[in-house]
Amino acid sequence: MVTARMGIYLLALSPLHVGGDEGRFGYEETIVVRRTYRNYVPYVPGSTVKGVLRTAACYVAKLVGATCCWAKEPTEIVDRHSKMGMPCDVCRIWGYPGHRGMLSVTDFVLVDGIPTTMLRLTHIEIDDYTGRAKEGALYVMDYVPAGTLFRGMLELEMERPVDLTLVLSSMYILEYVGMGRGGIVRAYLESLEFRDIGKKKLEVKDENDLRKALTQAYGSVSEVELTVKLYRELHLPPEPELDLLKELSAPRVWRW
Ligand SMILES: [Zn+2]
Repeated sequence: MVTARMGIYLLALSPLHVGGDEGRFGYEETIVVRRTYRNYVPYVPGSTVKGVLRTAACYVAKLVGATCCWAKEPTEIVDRHSKMGMPCDVCRIWGYPGHRGMLSVTDFVLVDGIPTTMLRLTHIEIDDYTGRAKEGALYVMDYVPAGTLFRGMLELEMERPVDLTLVLSSMYILEYVGMGRGGIVRAYLESLEFRDIGKKKLEVKDENDLRKALTQAYGSVSEVELTVKLYRELHLPPEPELDLLKELSAPRVWRW
């Protein structure tokens, strides 16, 4: 099976707070904050990124010729898949109860060290019943500022050519899905590499490499041009300057 390895940048376009596994690091309002050595270093858990990409994938699935069952509960998933006659593409790739899926996502760590201006915002919880502030429900949360850059990796075992198209599309619309507490995050592709095409590792340097790799792996592929286009939109030169990324944070426009 062909494996695609993607180096990904996530750029916060708004202040970002991602709640994570409570208790794992001993906070009540977890985390963007992880304890390393003597500092608290913000990061985005891989499970969070994977979850948001999954939602994004469901929005674009039909557009790229893939399927999503939209089910949340395990019994509902089984039910919808049996009506479809097979697992939907999103569940097949992202996993569902009893099936590990084909996509793994690492934690995303800061590229530039700890931001000098962590934001601490104070919130109050509203009681749904009374519509008033809850007693004792004043709390603070740490945010990383807009412009913060994280880096991580995605690894996708590709059963079908559409799998890569779906994952790249989900990255493309990530910023419209939202992450954590209303955070807006844009994804960029830093690098793309295929394993085991003709028993070799293939590093994709440009659109022609990608076209060649996909055609070699799958024979003729109808999604090639869409995949190449997504690659073009998402790809960044190596080691981008933060300034460049900030420039890029203007609205994305398809280049025809
Ligand atoms: Zn499904």
